[in-house]
Amino acid sequence: MEQHACVIIGTGPAGYTAAIYAARADLKPVVYTGLEPGGQLTTTTDVENFPGYPDGIMGPEMMEDLRKQAERFGTDIRFGMVTKAELNDIPGEYHKLTIDESQEVLARTVIIATGASAKYLGLESEKRLMGHGVSACAICDGFFFKGKEVVVVGGGDSAAEEATYLAKLCPKVTVLIRKDHWRASQIMQNRVKNTSNIEVHYNTETLEVIGDKTVTGVRVKNNRSGEESIIPADGFFLAIGHKPNTDIFKGQLETDEVGYILTKPGTTVTNFPGVFATGDAQDKVYRQAVTAAGTGCMGALEAERYLQEFAEKVTPAQVES
Ligand code: NDP
Repeated sequence: MEQHACVIIGTGPAGYTAAIYAARADLKPVVYTGLEPGGQLTTTTDVENFPGYPDGIMGPEMMEDLRKQAERFGTDIRFGMVTKAELNDIPGEYHKLTIDESQEVLARTVIIATGASAKYLGLESEKRLMGHGVSACAICDGFFFKGKEVVVVGGGDSAAEEATYLAKLCPKVTVLIRKDHWRASQIMQNRVKNTSNIEVHYNTETLEVIGDKTVTGVRVKNNRSGEESIIPADGFFLAIGHKPNTDIFKGQLETDEVGYILTKPGTTVTNFPGVFATGDAQDKVYRQAVTAAGTGCMGALEAERYLQEFAEKVTPAQVES
């Protein structure tokens, strides 16, 4: 069975940044890409808020740059999905990972960068217009809707936050909430109430996102009266929650009730020795590419220190394959 000093799971900004640092520290990292190499950013168009790109960059291109940078230092990037993780609670011992339900590898340190997935309504029209007016991140894409009318779906803190963010850019923001009340905290609700260009429609469900090449409106239904109507809009923002991709660690790593991995504050350290959680798999607050990259760096530095601590048992160069 292959034995590695450092295995990184996931290839979003967190995974690739962890790989760059780990490879430069000679940990000879092996990265498993997951089903969506490049992660969530490969589904977006322009990225204008990642430092270092003054003219912005397309999401897939940025992830390609990160991949090349990780490979430049010798990262072994493999297409594959980690389908099972058997973590070891003995400090310094190997963790066992199963790849694509068949191959098993041992890893002295595991850096989790499996990310999170935004939840979608599941409408065909929503899928078709993704990146063409449909978005699940107001902070990422809101700027492209400056001066335009938009719709936000959801009644939680994310929806309230995204609506108030968009209201600074857009003349009108309509929030669709399926119940007759918010789930968001009172303070966030107050912010919405105090923003004059946000209109809230309760008991309202989305039937269809309208548009041929780009979004032009949203067909909705009042679930009390049954009445249908069309809201004209250029943007349709989903804010109905995220799901961290952490199912394979269930019952082993400590998580919150949604599944976000809990880390020791200010670090990426989890409750298992040698297992570090980075990026959106452990961050439900910021969820930005740049913050994910930052925690990827932290994970690699912490993995390096951990391996040094057990240097008498193993050195990074002691990699058998
Ligand atoms: P939440 O799970 O809190 O809220 C999701 C919202 O989306 C609910 O209103 C839910 O409705 C609605 N929803 C879910 N599925 C559908 C659907 N299929 N159709 C229509 N509506 C749907 O998710 P958030 O992302 O808002 O927040 C996640 C966590 O992050 C929370 O703990 C939150 O407090 C935190 N957070 C904190 C922030 C802050 O403090 N600044 C900012 C953002 C998030 P229903 O109520 O009917 O289930």
